[in-house]
Amino acid sequence: MASHLIDSCIFCKIIKGEIPCFKVVETDLSYAFLDISPLAEGHTLIIPKYHSERLDEVPDQYLVDILPLAKKIALSTGHANYNLLQNNGKKAFQHVPHFHLHLIPKPNLEDGMIFREEDVARKVERPKDELAKTLEKMKEALSKL
Ligand code: AMP
Ligand code: ZN
Repeated sequence: MASHLIDSCIFCKIIKGEIPCFKVVETDLSYAFLDISPLAEGHTLIIPKYHSERLDEVPDQYLVDILPLAKKIALSTGHANYNLLQNNGKKAFQHVPHFHLHLIPKPNLEDGMIFREEDVARKVERPKDELAKTLEKMKEALSKL
């Protein structure tokens, strides 16, 4: 399958070998390498060999390839605790505009991803009628795709 890479993207350059990286593994459609600023040992970025910024722009065949690869890498770390993180858009803390999964091992509570107490505190159970309304809206939108 043809790769779709662009000249101005740092992760496309990594795939093309124009910028060095610590490559973990690759398939025909995906490429995995160590994050340069790891949150924990083994923090890996897994990307499609197709330049697209966000999840909703990645062709399905690349998405089908990438999750089994993430699973394999997760198993290889030997850690049963890990986070799989994926940010879309600046407001959602995406810094590199080429879709990527972060696989972040969490061997200890103080390693890897740390959720702030404030985030946990904001999670309150909402009224059932509010959830039902949300569901209605989502089903309507889904039926149009
Ligand atoms: P995000 O904030 O979700 O867009 O994540 C971007 C990630 O890319 C960050 O964790 C960076 O440390 C990582 N990163 C940026 N440039 C490189 C690079 N040249 N090699 C490896 N990781 C990189
Ligand atoms: Zn790219």
